[in-house]
Amino acid sequence: MGLFSKGPKGEKCGVCKGLMELREERLYAMPSVMVGHYSQHEHGKWYRDHLVPIESKSQIPTGIYGARVRLYRCPNCGQERAVVTPFLPVRDAEKPELPVTLEYLELDAFLGR
Ligand SMILES: [Zn+2]
Repeated sequence: MGLFSKGPKGEKCGVCKGLMELREERLYAMPSVMVGHYSQHEHGKWYRDHLVPIESKSQIPTGIYGARVRLYRCPNCGQERAVVTPFLPVRDAEKPELPVTLEYLELDAFLGR
């Protein structure tokens, strides 16, 4: 199973409607978010402040949320997007929350630029 094999298909560029390319997938833990206490946030800064990069899912403590972040870029116009999918590790599976899309200023805030 490849790293990029199960991303959401067909992320479309909001500017030119081209198909965006998945450039990178990152794994994070959300150490301050306990089971049952995740709520969706619109702001990139919130995710920047609460996501800690990790190497593998085994680093997420029991009862703590993780997040997969997929970074996309449009090959036509350069538009970028991050899709954040928070999840709760449950045994060997992941119980996903609704993905959050960060673009423009929210993406800059998330990436700290
Ligand atoms: Zn585009």
